[in-house]
Amino acid sequence: MKAFKVKRLYDGNLGAYFDNCVVVINGEHVEEILSLNEFETYKIYNNVDLLDYSQYYMMPGLIDCHVHLMIPGNNTLGEYIANEWSDGEINIMAYRNAMEALRNGVTSMRDCGSINYAAINVRKAIANQNIIGPDILSCGAPLTCTGGHCHYMGGEADGPWEIRKKIRQQQKAGADFVKLMGTYGGTIGITKTLTFSDEELMAAVDEAHLRELKIAVHSCTFEMTDKLSKIGVDTIEHAVMCPSDCSKNILDEETANRMASKNIYATYTICCVKGEISRLEKLINSNLATESDKKAYESNVNYDNLINESFIFQMERNVPYVIGTDAGWRAADFKSSFYDNIYVMEKDGAKSIDLIHASTLRGAKALGIDSKTGSIEKSKYADILLLKKDPADSLAEAIKKPDVVIKKGNFVVEKALNLTLNY
Ligand SMILES: [Zn+2]
Repeated sequence: MKAFKVKRLYDGNLGAYFDNCVVVINGEHVEEILSLNEFETYKIYNNVDLLDYSQYYMMPGLIDCHVHLMIPGNNTLGEYIANEWSDGEINIMAYRNAMEALRNGVTSMRDCGSINYAAINVRKAIANQNIIGPDILSCGAPLTCTGGHCHYMGGEADGPWEIRKKIRQQQKAGADFVKLMGTYGGTIGITKTLTFSDEELMAAVDEAHLRELKIAVHSCTFEMTDKLSKIGVDTIEHAVMCPSDCSKNILDEETANRMASKNIYATYTICCVKGEISRLEKLINSNLATESDKKAYESNVNYDNLINESFIFQMERNVPYVIGTDAGWRAADFKSSFYDNIYVMEKDGAKSIDLIHASTLRGAKALGIDSKTGSIEKSKYADILLLKKDPADSLAEAIKKPDVVIKKGNFVVEKALNLTLNY
């Protein structure tokens, strides 16, 4: 057993912290959380190695509720990967991305769409080959209409029965939840419409819940976000509140209040167009931008403002938000995306103490994995970060470069005591 003496523990519950305590880990799990005095007695009867992190803050590992492991996040299009890469290359990319996120503190993640079951393959390899990696939840392919958003991922289905069958096929292949594209999105060349009729949408929600799967629905319009708040899905992805012409947000109190009262979690993927904005900005500043680049710049800046406004409006009405980075998509990489999202959310007025909870236990609840992870409590997985800076002052600053990352009791990163890692 290993014992960690820490300056302060944030256990993942909203606002909860404990000063000068010792967290004991036994194998993969948290064994005890003790005061310094209690530990003095405990160590007489138990064989434990005490590690002195008394200058460090401890919190649970981060949970990213929206990633795409099949895409590198360096502006390569998913369409290109789907056409040009072999399944083997995609699986290796997916594992590399998962590890990059883990080294930066993300100990659990939910893949919201990959092709040929790449995320499920990585999840299985980590479990079956007993290799270190984050916990991964995967939808397999996201459901979309023929020619709809992310159609190249293999989830096309039309009509209630095709949708039900597609959900059953994904579950058979190992999917942990259902992801459905409710509206258009960033896929090249698709029309700006809703993806499914109400009949199809209701069939998907019904089928997912019949099969005890959670359903996450992508929404880039107010119309869909409002509809989903009435139907009652498990998570709304992006949760934007503008019409499809992106003119301005429809900041409807009832929609946000409904999301809050029904406990519908929202992920805002708040940095998903920031990379594109900075790429276009560089072109404009060096006089290399075409007219269409300039137009694209303006529409991306506008969309970025709309996402931030939607987030602030919903947060202020107590919508339970969690963190979803869209890592993989466009320029959202697996190294800094979590930090980038928290940085922007803090600037938007989110409190660090709430962001700690949203990044950990609330995220775990949204994904239905809170009995195993998301907080540092007895018998949960030892998914842990140790940080030099106090995350309650600024979570972004604290997690920018985590000093120690522990996944199921194994050190993945250890820059505090310079321990030798055995993997
Ligand atoms: Zn996405």
